[in-house]
Amino acid sequence: MGSSPSAATSIRSQRSRSEDGHAVVPVRRITGPRQSACCAVRLRLGMLTGHSGLTIVKTGLIADPVFKEHDPGPGHPESPGRYDAALRGAINAVGKENLLPIEPREATEDEIALCHTREYIGIVKEDVRDSVRCLRTGDTDVCDRSYHVALKAAGGLLEAVDNILAGKARNAFCPVRPPGHHACADGGMGFCIFNNAAIAARYAQHRYGLERVLIADWDVHHGNGTQDIFYEDPSVFYFSTHQWPIYPGTGRAHERGSGPGKGTTLNCPVAAGSGRTEIVGAFRTLLVPAMRRFRPDFVVISAGFDSECGDYLGGLALTPADFTELTAIVMRIAAEHARGRLVSTLEGGYRLDGLAECAGAHAAALVEPP
Ligand SMILES: [Zn+2]
Repeated sequence: MGSSPSAATSIRSQRSRSEDGHAVVPVRRITGPRQSACCAVRLRLGMLTGHSGLTIVKTGLIADPVFKEHDPGPGHPESPGRYDAALRGAINAVGKENLLPIEPREATEDEIALCHTREYIGIVKEDVRDSVRCLRTGDTDVCDRSYHVALKAAGGLLEAVDNILAGKARNAFCPVRPPGHHACADGGMGFCIFNNAAIAARYAQHRYGLERVLIADWDVHHGNGTQDIFYEDPSVFYFSTHQWPIYPGTGRAHERGSGPGKGTTLNCPVAAGSGRTEIVGAFRTLLVPAMRRFRPDFVVISAGFDSECGDYLGGLALTPADFTELTAIVMRIAAEHARGRLVSTLEGGYRLDGLAECAGAHAAALVEPP
């Protein structure tokens, strides 16, 4: 998708935020004929200048059909169609013209190695080259394009980080696949190859010198890989709500980190059937006060939509409106502590209609918080 002159004709009224994250100005409707050449250039950059002269920066969208080329095989729930569903949901809810398309790049091996061992990276390369059906480290089915697509998924988040830190995007939604939060430093599992959220967090620290990163995870499953990577690291706070007890079996409340990382892991396991009260409640009453103490400089959302009511792999009961609210809570944390800097990446979500609807609610909140 790309910006076109017509994109300028229907920017709807929306609030925006200044660089320090505060809401600043309502954007008036901008019409094509009145658009100046300068405005057209700024539109292509994702920026608009309102009548007040304040710059409006859009939500970035990492979009590339390459994410459909990782194919775990017929009938697999982590299907290529998930990319289309999440993308369609976001665009239908928000309008193409209100998103900044960002092209993903391949992450380099050194960037993947911010979170994974060189040995494991070699295993993925070898297994894909040898046309195995499933990674030898665990339950992740692959095809001959999987290594390449996994590099693009991680690299897509890195491009999103770059665009946000350059002031070109306000925040970003990355409907990439394969997902990442089950991938540990030395092994993929649970449909995941590389841990996209974890790599983005480390990259924000290494490339931009940001000190503290929050990763908030509302997938129905516990992100064991993310927890494992940062378990002893006090600079990355991992917060997860997840159904218990289901796959992967980690994420009990007493798992709080260890060594210097003690206290920067916070797990909220919830029973099957839980929904708004338990999960939105946990974000509000546990995460928000924890972040007043932690004060993140950057925020990553592991946005799994398999916690929606009706998902084929989960048993929770979140609705699209609940994802709007979860997004708003995390955005307020980002605004208060991290100048609004926030990247959201797709994790699970297997009922395609539900995924589209919930990703749409999430993206709409990123563009225009309720
Ligand atoms: Zn999941």
